[in-house]
Amino acid sequence: MKLLNYLRGTMPRPGLALSETVGLDLLACQPSLSGNWQAMLPDLSPIRAIFDEHLPRAADLAAGWDAGEVPTLPYFDLRQAQLLTPVILPSKIIAVGLNYRDHAAEQNKPLPPRPLLFAKASSCLQAPGLPIELPPELTKVDAEAELAVIIGKPGRAITREQAPAHIAGFTCMNDVSDREAQYTDKQFFRGKSIDTGGPCGPWLVTPDELPPLASGLAITCRWNDKLMQSSNTEQLIFPVDELISYISRNMTLLPGDIITTGTPGGVGVFRKPQVFLQPGDEVSITIEGIGTLSNPVRSRTG
Ligand code: ZN
Repeated sequence: MKLLNYLRGTMPRPGLALSETVGLDLLACQPSLSGNWQAMLPDLSPIRAIFDEHLPRAADLAAGWDAGEVPTLPYFDLRQAQLLTPVILPSKIIAVGLNYRDHAAEQNKPLPPRPLLFAKASSCLQAPGLPIELPPELTKVDAEAELAVIIGKPGRAITREQAPAHIAGFTCMNDVSDREAQYTDKQFFRGKSIDTGGPCGPWLVTPDELPPLASGLAITCRWNDKLMQSSNTEQLIFPVDELISYISRNMTLLPGDIITTGTPGGVGVFRKPQVFLQPGDEVSITIEGIGTLSNPVRSRTG
């Protein structure tokens, strides 16, 4: 399943993608559901039942809309919808530095003995399609294509064997980075937490649609037409189950928490010459089996 949030009027609403075209509004199907994914992620079986009930109608609905019929609830046209991040306000976003073999190689760094963790402020999240806004004084802002895992069942001291049962699904994340702050501060929090510097989406894909632990998926990042990053999630030094186990020794993982698993080689700061995001750019991250997360880049005004 593909789980999403979208904007209906001014309200965020949870939904499912039945196909590329057909969205299903969950509250219109079942008003008694919580409108909040954090409450629904620990047990997706009621959502699965709704999905199975509506999936057989998707092809006919799409054909009807193409013939001029107007979508009516509980269905909506995904091509017209403003999607939001799959989780609106997670308790935490945990990021991993230097977790791709090719990214370590481009920096001539040895493989790390344990995961290097840092935090991104939850307030940096940005919806698919909405702009990454560059504060006027920042000139060294970079993009990082990443596979993100979203926690379903809460837990602490989770073993690697138990870890898959705690995964709600996977999505794309852009770990936008102010390199100037990242390197001058000697720690990452400020540089990794620019408002709008956490594009995430377009939806959460449940593990049954992907290979085990989402390994072996092609991951790319394009700036406009230029291919900047191209790798595969099999390059992860610390796979998703190991990350969940390692992190949960120290802190409880809650439903909706995002672990963004690190970026492959090719980022702007390690190129010769260096390149950074400019207003007018468009950054597109694609992960095989998940989808594409695209965001334009703008100057922030005010
Ligand atoms: Zn990163």
